[in-house]
Amino acid sequence: MHRYGWILLRAYLPAAAALVFAIAFMLWTSVAGSVNALNTLVPVVKWLPPLALLVALVSGGIATVRMWRWQRGQSPVCAGCQGPLGRVRHGPRGNYRKCLACGGKQAE
Ligand SMILES: [Zn+2]
Repeated sequence: MHRYGWILLRAYLPAAAALVFAIAFMLWTSVAGSVNALNTLVPVVKWLPPLALLVALVSGGIATVRMWRWQRGQSPVCAGCQGPLGRVRHGPRGNYRKCLACGGKQAE
């Protein structure tokens, strides 16, 4: 996979993971609805798929805005490879962002 493909994969991985959880919750509720022992949990668990879909939508939207701002040169870039930076993370030596292209850490 080329560099831009890896950048997109890293940027959209949280959204894809939330989508997988949503599908898994939907499958679980459809299977558990027919099992009497698990039938009482379905009213509670049925809210997890829409919640996971909402998380996927918001996460994907944030990634899209981050990529769009990076393409336009409006966001901070990695000092080493000029790749887009991810969210702010809190480390023992202060705040930093991880590069979505090379994985390097950039002090905030
Ligand atoms: Zn980089």
